[in-house]
Amino acid sequence: MYNNQEAHAMFPPQGSNFLGATAPPASMFDNVPGYEGTAMGGGGGYLPPPAPAYPPPAPEPSPTQPEWNIPSISEDTAREAFRLFVSNHCCWSSGPAKDGMITAMDSFNTYRYRLETFTEARATEWAHEQYNGQPVNAYTQPAPGPWDIQVQPPAHFQEQSTHVMVPYTSSVKECHECLGQGREPCTECAGAGNKVCWVCNGAGVRTGDDQCNHCNGRGRENCSACHGHGSKECDACRGKRQLHVYIQLNVKWTNNKDDFVVEQSSGLKVENLNSVSGKELFKDTQYLVFPVMGFPDPAVGQAAERLVREHQNKYSQSARILQQRQTIELIPITKVTYKWKGGTHTYFVYGNEFLVSTEDYPATCCCTVM
Ligand SMILES: [Zn+2]
Ligand SMILES: [Zn+2]
Ligand SMILES: [Zn+2]
Repeated sequence: MYNNQEAHAMFPPQGSNFLGATAPPASMFDNVPGYEGTAMGGGGGYLPPPAPAYPPPAPEPSPTQPEWNIPSISEDTAREAFRLFVSNHCCWSSGPAKDGMITAMDSFNTYRYRLETFTEARATEWAHEQYNGQPVNAYTQPAPGPWDIQVQPPAHFQEQSTHVMVPYTSSVKECHECLGQGREPCTECAGAGNKVCWVCNGAGVRTGDDQCNHCNGRGRENCSACHGHGSKECDACRGKRQLHVYIQLNVKWTNNKDDFVVEQSSGLKVENLNSVSGKELFKDTQYLVFPVMGFPDPAVGQAAERLVREHQNKYSQSARILQQRQTIELIPITKVTYKWKGGTHTYFVYGNEFLVSTEDYPATCCCTVM
């Protein structure tokens, strides 16, 4: 919006104070009750939602507790995943994966607790657009509060943003960019309408005493950007000299997500688990969830309690919580020990996707080991 501020400041036209012209005068913005702090270009931050008229019902534990049952993978599944993994490394010999003898399958299954809090945040700013005869309605009725305006949210947990005009705040004002002139100085020629000839660089002659035939010896040429006028149509009002000014409400829906993964001692790095899914053991979606209770691993219950408290404190300050969802996934991790040519080696199979990780494959170069 202010990209031509520099040009204005450098080349003030006669008789007007162009230095101050791009800063909109205070008179541009009406005093709208309930919107006193609203600035142009936003920057005011999100508005705290008002306290609800009726306190929402406190979340309660669900009366039926889920059955927690824990699956495991078979040797065949492990071997097949390993074989596939090795075949994707072009230099690795398939021997150990094919002929290695599995001596142990140890399960290090772990849990991932996830809490999602879906919020709506609102902020306001003064905005303007070119005036094309839009109806204006400032002061015809009191403007509704920022949280009283109906805005259709997306499906829960879908992130999105939108903006709407706040009713009863719109008016027509003189354009502050061009001071109501409809035109502003051309930035290409500094408002002169012509500029130094690029062929003779202003000399009017070329090598020797030959007249420059590009500028006919004038040393200057017409500015093509403004066709010699020295000015061009104002960007802000598109030459209409007036602006439609109003308060805009910006609405943003965010899914705030936190994970907790129970520590496990398999030796597999926990970062590996970010790329896999698990078996969903529990899912609970409510306006406000109650921390899951009675789960066999107490670390999950503790994390749930902490995250639910954190989210409900943190996200109700500057936004409105629309929905929460907590899930527990079981992420299968199997540590497979196998023997190959007298040595003992290990690999991990993890996630619903049966991803494999290994750090001691005995045949990582097929040309030397055969
Ligand atoms: Zn010339
Ligand atoms: Zn020009
Ligand atoms: Zn203008």
